[in-house]
Amino acid sequence: MTTRVPILIVGAGISGLACAYHLVKSGIDAQIVEAGPRPGGVLRSERRDGFLLELGPQSFSGTPQLLELCRDLGIENELVEAPHSAPRFLVIHGRLKPAPLSPPAFFATSLFSARTKFSIVSDLFGRTHPPAGDESVAAFTRRKFSAELLDKLVGPLVSGIYAGDPEKLSLRAAFPRIHEAERATGSVLRGMMRVRKSEPVRKQRPALQSFRDGNETLIKALAANLGPALRCGVEVRAIQQGVHGIPPSGKPQSSEAFLVSSKTTSGSESVIADRLVLATPSYVAASLLQPELAASLIEIEYAPLAVVSLGYNKRDVGHSLEGFGFLIPRSEGRRTLGTVWNSSLFPGRAPEGSVLLTSFVGGATDPQAAALSAEEISALVHREILPILSIRNQPTFSNVEIYQRALPQYNHGHTARIAALESESSSLLNLRLVGNYLRGPAIGACMEQAIAVADELRAAVSGASSG
Ligand SMILES: Cc1cc2nc3c(=O)[nH]c(=O)nc-3n(C[C@H](O)[C@H](O)[C@H](O)COP(=O)(O)OP(=O)(O)OC[C@H]3O[C@@H](n4cnc5c(N)ncnc54)[C@H](O)[C@@H]3O)c2cc1C
Repeated sequence: MTTRVPILIVGAGISGLACAYHLVKSGIDAQIVEAGPRPGGVLRSERRDGFLLELGPQSFSGTPQLLELCRDLGIENELVEAPHSAPRFLVIHGRLKPAPLSPPAFFATSLFSARTKFSIVSDLFGRTHPPAGDESVAAFTRRKFSAELLDKLVGPLVSGIYAGDPEKLSLRAAFPRIHEAERATGSVLRGMMRVRKSEPVRKQRPALQSFRDGNETLIKALAANLGPALRCGVEVRAIQQGVHGIPPSGKPQSSEAFLVSSKTTSGSESVIADRLVLATPSYVAASLLQPELAASLIEIEYAPLAVVSLGYNKRDVGHSLEGFGFLIPRSEGRRTLGTVWNSSLFPGRAPEGSVLLTSFVGGATDPQAAALSAEEISALVHREILPILSIRNQPTFSNVEIYQRALPQYNHGHTARIAALESESSSLLNLRLVGNYLRGPAIGACMEQAIAVADELRAAVSGASSG
C-alpha cells in the first residue's frame, strides 16, 4: 500500500534533521528518511581505545540558532567550548609560527613583507572595485593584497574551511561578506568594519564548540526527538513529479504531489509526499531530479578528503600542544593540509597520558591523495607532522576516514548556478532543496538554511490549510 505524507525530507544529515525537527516541533506531520544505517551524514563521533574521534567536523561555531536548538533539546549543558585564546599556527619553513589573525598581530609579525603590510593599509584608505564577473579567491587576494598573503595565510585558511583550491573558489560565493564589503565601500576592511558596527554587540567571536561526548550528541538528540518520524535504511531511488504523471512537455509546472520510490532494508516502498525536501548532497539530488534542475546541480564539484586521527603518548610529543593546531601552506611541499590538536581543545578526547591529533589530507589541491590506502595516508601524516611537533615515537592509535566527496566546492560560477537552480525550482511549488552546497558548508550555515526552509514550508502548509 502506498502511504501519503504531508512533507517528506530525504537525507538525515544535519540539514535534513534541522529542517525535520523544526517542522515536527510546530506540529507538522513531517517524515524524514535516511539511506544509511544511522542519521548524521558526515557528522560522526566514535569512541575507540579510549579516544573520542570526530570522523567528520571537529568543532562548530556556536551560532545563536545552534545554541537555541541545544537549549530546546536539553543538551545545552553538554556543550564544551574551546579556549578563546587558543593560538592557531602556520607552518613556515617547517616550523610553527603563530597565525596573525588580528590587525595588531598582523602588523607585528615578521611573517609578512612590508609590501604585504602596505597593501592592507592601501585597502583601508583606498578605493577599489571588484570586477564585474566572478573572481577567484586567489585572483582577488593577488589583486588587492599580495601573492605572499595568498600563499601563507589565505590559501591555508581556504583549505581549512573548504578543502578548496583558491584558484578555483569563487570569492563571491565562498566569502560573500568580503566580496560585498569591497563592492559596497571600495575597501574590504572598511566594509567589514561597517558590517561589524551594524551587528548586535558581541564581545568575542563565537566560540568553537563541541559536546562532552562529541559532535554526534546533537544528532542523537535530534533523532531521539524525531522518534518514528525518522527512518534509516531507506534510500530514495526515484521521484516522480505529479502523482498523475510527468507533465508531457516543457518545463515542469507542478504543484502536485510526488511519488517517491525507495529501496529499504526489507525490500522497497513507495510514498506519496505532498511536499518534498531534498537534503542530500547535490549529486544525489541531481540523480533524482529532472534534467533542468540536474544541470546546475551536476556542475557542483566535491573535494575528496581523508580525516586522519592519530594518538600518541604525551611524553613522545616534544611540543606543548597549547593551541588549536596548525595549517600548512601548499608551498611547504607537504601533503598534510593541517592538524587539529583535539585533546588540547576539549576534555575527554584522549586517555590519560595520551594526546589526539586529527589531520586532513587531500582536498581540491591534492585529490590524488584520496586514492592512497589508509595505511599509506596514516604513515604520510605521521612522517610529515613528526618534525613539526618534535614527535619521538610511532602513534599508539590510528584511524583514517576517507571521503571521496567530502565538501562541495563553491567554485567559479557557483552563485550563478545556485541562482539558476532557484529559478528553475521556483516553478516546482512543493519541492525544496537544503544542504551544504547552497548557503555555506559550516554546520551553523546548514542549519540556518534548513530552518529558513522549514519556516517557508510551515507558512505554506498553514496557508494551504486555512485557504
Ligand atoms: C571531513 C569534514 C570536516 C568538516 N569540518 C567542519 C567543521 O569543523 N566545522 C563545521 O562547521 N563544518 C565542518 N564540515 C562541514 C559540515 O560538517 C557539513 O557541511 C555538514 O555536516 C553537511 O550536512 P548536510 O546535512 O548538508 O549533508 P550530509 O551530512 O552529507 O547529509 C546528507 C545525508 O543524505 C543521505 N542521503 C544521500 N542520498 C540519499 C538517498 N538517496 N536517500 C536517502 N538519504 C540519502 C546521506 O546518507 C546523508 O546522511 C566538515 C565536513 C567534512 C566532510
